[in-house]
Amino acid sequence: MTERLICGQVLRFAGDPFALPVAEAATIDSAGAVLVRDGLVAGVGNAAALKAAHPQAEVSEMGEALILPGFVDAHVHYPQTAIIASWGKRLIDWLNSYTFPEEMRFADPAYAAETAARYLDLTLAEGTTTMCSYCTIHPASVEAFFAEAERRGQRVAGGKTCMDRNAPDGLRDTAQSAHDDSKALLEAWHGRGRITYAVTPRFSPTSSPEQLEALGALWAEHPDTLMQTHLSEQLDEIAWVRDLYPETRDYLDTYEQFGLIGPGALFGHAIHLEEREKDRLRESGSALVHCPTSNTFIGSGLFDMAGLKTAGHTIGLATDTGGGSSFSMLRTMAAAYEVGQLRGTPLHAAQLLWLATESSARAMRMDDRIGALRPGMEADIIALDLASTPAIAQRAARAEDVWEQVFATIMLGDDRAVAAVWIGGEKRR
Ligand SMILES: [Zn+2]
Repeated sequence: MTERLICGQVLRFAGDPFALPVAEAATIDSAGAVLVRDGLVAGVGNAAALKAAHPQAEVSEMGEALILPGFVDAHVHYPQTAIIASWGKRLIDWLNSYTFPEEMRFADPAYAAETAARYLDLTLAEGTTTMCSYCTIHPASVEAFFAEAERRGQRVAGGKTCMDRNAPDGLRDTAQSAHDDSKALLEAWHGRGRITYAVTPRFSPTSSPEQLEALGALWAEHPDTLMQTHLSEQLDEIAWVRDLYPETRDYLDTYEQFGLIGPGALFGHAIHLEEREKDRLRESGSALVHCPTSNTFIGSGLFDMAGLKTAGHTIGLATDTGGGSSFSMLRTMAAAYEVGQLRGTPLHAAQLLWLATESSARAMRMDDRIGALRPGMEADIIALDLASTPAIAQRAARAEDVWEQVFATIMLGDDRAVAAVWIGGEKRR
């Protein structure tokens, strides 16, 4: 039995820093340590006390680095890795110009495997240890992602993206094949090791009512899987949904009528919501996913974090790679801060870190396993250097407290700030 002690400034949350005062919700122990045993967190506390109690433990001294759970990215498209930062389009044109031609290439399993490996390398360097990914319509794209994650021991969720209309030749399935392929993948992978399946209709414009009905039935048969889709990202998209589904009350209703809401449902973007939609999302226990770099990059709008948190919604944070302009959850937190400022509600560094860890894990119904440093949780842990570049170091030197230092790294930091990453207790970077 190997024990490891990771020593540094350990971040812990006692509660939601949007609901409690930050000083009550979050603490940073400047002489802390995390004890890891058999891939799990076995203890968190004072470094000297843990060293004395566990003299055999291998010690990783991380100095003044911030020790926290690995980042959890609640909405990504790993197949868009190679087209990130493509210029000048808005949602529908973005899909047609960049996304669909690239997703076509995933008919080739070798290309899918190569991209999945590259994506997981890039995100590991950014300190992201879990993500919920869309794949493409090709079952091989799902196999590639899960196989690569399994090889690395990573907890991930993902699913076959389903589209049976308004997509080009070669990138459409049918209601029946979407159901059958998703079911076969789910049966092969869901609950295997650290893999979770997510039933994945891309969004209402590319699914017929028959397809959404079939996927709703599949999810009802497997309620412990996730369901992910897009909701109310851009105004043109909402108008298009109204034309395609004239009999529904609103965009959310296109999913709701087929049972595609509830605990484990993840709705990406959710920017331009009607009051009824907000109420139903909250009452049903569905999660919203804020994708701030994507929402500004594609010009979608400003997510109402303060209003939705006050109303009691469960909210995850995400890069939305490659509509989002970064693989980095630090950059994503910075963008969430900027969007908050544009809505008049600046977020505290503790709130940003909570969104990127425990809150995203909660949105994915994984908060009993990841997203926090507590005994029994899986030991996906990162160490953030709070002085990783000359620019950050000089700002951190002027800081009056550690939160000011953390904020500087959120706003200015990149992969150079990620000093170490452990996945399931194993050091991977
Ligand atoms: Zn997306």
